[in-house]
Amino acid sequence: MSTDQTGQRVEVYPGREVIVEFDPELTFECVDDCTWCCQHGVLLYDRDFLGLAERANLNESTTEFRGHDFVRREEKDRDEHVAEDGAACYFLREDGLCSLHAEHDWKPARCSVFPLAVTREDGELHVDIRDSAHEHCEGLDVSERRVIDELDAFLPEVLWELDNPDSDREL
Ligand code: SF4
Ligand code: SF4
Repeated sequence: MSTDQTGQRVEVYPGREVIVEFDPELTFECVDDCTWCCQHGVLLYDRDFLGLAERANLNESTTEFRGHDFVRREEKDRDEHVAEDGAACYFLREDGLCSLHAEHDWKPARCSVFPLAVTREDGELHVDIRDSAHEHCEGLDVSERRVIDELDAFLPEVLWELDNPDSDREL
């Protein structure tokens, strides 16, 4: 395959397709210790908000911005796994792991989707690489694992049920 084959349809779950806008040859493997995508606020779809309520204190861990719920960022008392301003996702631990994932085997949908971006256009889901990921995500094109072959690992099925799954909304 080559880059001119972007725009192809891929069935991710039975009857649930996406239109792939990135190079089908793109590979990805998350790089230990990078944690760049965990240094930001995290968009919470409604179902994530409810799921988070079962696992964490929402008053402490979330904030609302422009009508959307997010996991908030907080100042961390450390030099590693923080953005330039010294803050990171509320759930990012000192060891670079996500406490939700490590302790509850669960994380918000947006965290699975990254470094992809999902949008709905004319009723169809389109998937591309998030703009900021090209610049900051260290996991692109460093392995043999083609993203297009494992889209179900990035795209929770709930995305097909949302009126606005746009994953690029930021805090
Ligand atoms: S919730 Fe967990 S996986 Fe998601 S950004 Fe925060 S630390 Fe990272
Ligand atoms: S920015 Fe990319 S490589 Fe870094 S932690 Fe996130 S997904 Fe992994």
